[in-house]
Amino acid sequence: MTLYKTEAIILRKRPLGEADQIITFISPEHGKFDAVAKGIRKVKSTFSGKLELFCRVRLLAAEGKNLDTISQAELLNPRKGINKDIAHFAYASLVLELVDLFTEEGEKNRTLFNLLDLTLESLERKKNLKLVLIIFQIKLLRILGYMPEIKKCIICSSAISLSFFSPSGGGAVCGLCRGNVKDAIPAGESVFKIIDTFRKLPLNSSQRVNLSAMQVADTEKILERHVKYRLEREIKSLVFIKEVLNK
Ligand SMILES: [Zn+2]
Repeated sequence: MTLYKTEAIILRKRPLGEADQIITFISPEHGKFDAVAKGIRKVKSTFSGKLELFCRVRLLAAEGKNLDTISQAELLNPRKGINKDIAHFAYASLVLELVDLFTEEGEKNRTLFNLLDLTLESLERKKNLKLVLIIFQIKLLRILGYMPEIKKCIICSSAISLSFFSPSGGGAVCGLCRGNVKDAIPAGESVFKIIDTFRKLPLNSSQRVNLSAMQVADTEKILERHVKYRLEREIKSLVFIKEVLNK
């Protein structure tokens, strides 16, 4: 039996049998992986309160033939601020869901792990959750190689009058080409510049950028359409945010 130690963040949990849970983690050294927490649903479990969503933990786990088993878990960051209200919880859930949907098991990516860790930290402390989400998505797309084309028209390569966006084409469309692109949607005037600014800025300075409510809404819309098209599926936490929070 091989034992290994790693830091990890909890992405997802599901029940197994009467008392166990399969937990999906992401770690810098192992990428995304599943491991079973035996007896976690019993009242006196040693794991109680340590393996909750969003938490950063240090694990000692044993490699199994099909599934690894957690031997010990030490809580490094309980992320209490995320559970303080439904908006923080919903945005943090969306961040976990996007990381989960965009990654395959076992793909190691320390940069992605750090982005997730810092984003959850921001979501604990910051009030402007929409801005945190915008910055997170741009960094996520860049790290994973899914950045939209924002510098030139995807049809004619012109850098002028980029005022539309094509989710299927994954980039900006100019005013002259919009008629040739079936799914071209209007993009706010400064959206592509905003995305470019956040793409270049380090994460810590990103949150000092001020955007108007209109710029936030425009950028949110373009990123949402781009991400949805890439994932080809419904993003559950986003549906929740729209139906419950944005009423
Ligand atoms: Zn064009």
